[in-house]
Amino acid sequence: MKQLYTFGNYLRDKFGCKVHKVGINISGFTCPNIDGTVAYGGCTFCENDSFSASSGEVQELKGFYLNLNSKENPHLEKQLQQLEIQFNAISKRQKDEYGAEKFIVYFQSFTNTYAPFETLKALYEKALSFRDVVGLSIGTRSDSVTDETLEYLAQLSKHKEIWIEFGIQSIYDETLKKINRGHDSANVKELILRAKSKGLNVCGHLIFGLPDESKEMMIETAKAAYAWGIDSVKYHPLYVVKKTALANEFLRGEFTPISEEEYLEVLLESIKLKPSSISVQRVTAGIDNNTLLSPDWCRDKNSQIKNINNTLKQLNLKY
Ligand code: SF4
Repeated sequence: MKQLYTFGNYLRDKFGCKVHKVGINISGFTCPNIDGTVAYGGCTFCENDSFSASSGEVQELKGFYLNLNSKENPHLEKQLQQLEIQFNAISKRQKDEYGAEKFIVYFQSFTNTYAPFETLKALYEKALSFRDVVGLSIGTRSDSVTDETLEYLAQLSKHKEIWIEFGIQSIYDETLKKINRGHDSANVKELILRAKSKGLNVCGHLIFGLPDESKEMMIETAKAAYAWGIDSVKYHPLYVVKKTALANEFLRGEFTPISEEEYLEVLLESIKLKPSSISVQRVTAGIDNNTLLSPDWCRDKNSQIKNINNTLKQLNLKY
């Protein structure tokens, strides 16, 4: 049985040691799909409250939000401090518990290019200055990366490992409308192609089980993402958490989550069609607490991975 080509494998091949991603949440960041710039409320599945920048020692910056036009940022020092405290705590745990030797700082919650350029530059450069950090991974939306930021990241990528993570979710605009995504598929394609043309590494996020999508549509999305040249992929099932617009749709009987069986079929086909050079960062997702409304199979990560491995046997692969 061969191992599926994971992001961990990619990093080990490239850096010759164990490299881990350190997920960071910075207070004051938001999303144009939440703050009204593009839309209010966000994607229907997004539980905006779940992104907490608090890491114990650092106070959250309540009521303070940046956007691309923010003229000044009086809280930059606090944000830099949050970054350092979170990085130190998480990287230490990853070293002690998993033997991680090098790190990629992952700006993960909300839209991490949606702030004035000077703020972004200060945060990214601070992250790159930490010991044993080899690069950055920046989670964002395709409608929120300015030319200036893209060009700057392209320059950084000449010496550091720089990734941008885009939510592709679906290539069908009718689906993107149903989930209140706030941009269309052409916008994601354009940004991915531009990022790739500047030599950046791109990770695409895909969601299977979006409203009214057939298996064929999910597989077509995966095929398109591969064709656009993504370097890495995250596959997720759509699950419903409380306090979201999707939860209301689910409770009204207007949305039925994907079954595990169907998810496994789509995942298997997507992995079968994936060019071998594209690494896999995630094969599923879920949440094991009482915020999960449905489906129940997204509660138990171990059982999900066991079932995925059983399915991948058909390709002589294991995760
Ligand atoms: S783009 Fe991301 S952060 Fe913004 S609303 Fe959608 S899921 Fe939430």
